[in-house]
Amino acid sequence: MNRRQWMALGAGAVAMPLSEAQQPPRQAAPKQPPAAQAGLPLEQFQPKSMLHVPETHVPRARFPLLDFHTHITFSNSPGKIQYLMQPANCLAVMDRKNIRVMADLTAGYGDGLRDAVAKLSQAHPGRFVVFTEPAWTKASDPDYPKSQAALIEESHKAGAKGLKVLKNLGLFLRENGTGKLVRIDDRRFDPMWEAVGALKMPVAIHISDPEAFFLPIDRFNERWEELHAHPDWSFYGKDFPSDRELQEARRTVMRRHPRTQFVCLHTANSENLAYVSECLDSHPNMHVDIAARIGELGRQPRMSRKFFDKYQDRIVFGTDASSDPNTPQQTFGDALYEIYYRFLETEDEYFDYSPAPVPPQGRWRIYGIGLPEQVLRKVYWENAARLLGLSS
Ligand SMILES: [Zn+2]
Repeated sequence: MNRRQWMALGAGAVAMPLSEAQQPPRQAAPKQPPAAQAGLPLEQFQPKSMLHVPETHVPRARFPLLDFHTHITFSNSPGKIQYLMQPANCLAVMDRKNIRVMADLTAGYGDGLRDAVAKLSQAHPGRFVVFTEPAWTKASDPDYPKSQAALIEESHKAGAKGLKVLKNLGLFLRENGTGKLVRIDDRRFDPMWEAVGALKMPVAIHISDPEAFFLPIDRFNERWEELHAHPDWSFYGKDFPSDRELQEARRTVMRRHPRTQFVCLHTANSENLAYVSECLDSHPNMHVDIAARIGELGRQPRMSRKFFDKYQDRIVFGTDASSDPNTPQQTFGDALYEIYYRFLETEDEYFDYSPAPVPPQGRWRIYGIGLPEQVLRKVYWENAARLLGLSS
């Protein structure tokens, strides 16, 4: 009998009626949960933190904000969109959470774009801005450089406030659909980058992905569980460029088009803030959002806090919110925003970066960075408002 078993029996004896307690101690093995005897599958492990630390509930942002990165609509065929979220539902959450404006980035172009502008920014003045996207299916057409620049002008007239570039560029877009991957810094896009610059439309550009997505899916991969659940998210092997090659190609674009403002989504390269700082220092037209990366920023809180202090004029608030329940770190709703506010506004320690029973991107927790009021105002509103030409 070990000490723990002995103490368990002792505790039982105290509560037992005397007649029973006088009997000799029973020798039956104490019950143990099966997990303590056999191994525990990783997916069943849901440890509860035993830290007694402050838990601040932040139901509303301290200042009105602009969510620079959401997907209310999605364009899955040329010129068409579907609504992933209904504007009325968005507005209800926005009012509760102190979100003044939501930017819908994926509204495509043509009729789909016009529909999104009508149902979002025109129907609810001052609450939504809508971005356009390039006509990727035409990228191998001989007249693409000119026609894409013309499409930007048309989209701007239709009410688009910015241009969104998904990570298809660099990872999926191939010559004539199936040929070589088209480079991010391919010259055919130069007229497009210039056109948006001239029209003062910022570019919301997602390039690359978490660094672990470019590494083997093995026991050393910090996103093993996420990649195991979504093996198609891996860009390891085949003819994929490395994360750094993609990042450097985007830098070439920013260098060539200094009058165009680029917002590098997902903090550009959130695992490597030293590299992002080097990029920000060398490209004055570069900005970043923090969408879907508080899991990275929040586990390096001291580094992040310095980063926010130094680049407080070039960071915008964003969440990458959409309706997809499979990515709880991005599912639009009250719980999502409360975590972002807690990260930015408090110094709470060791909390979940996503409203999910198991952290979906990796088994780590985050720490708040308690931004001062002046920095918070810039990140929540002023920087994005300036980029989009909105008045306060
Ligand atoms: Zn996104």
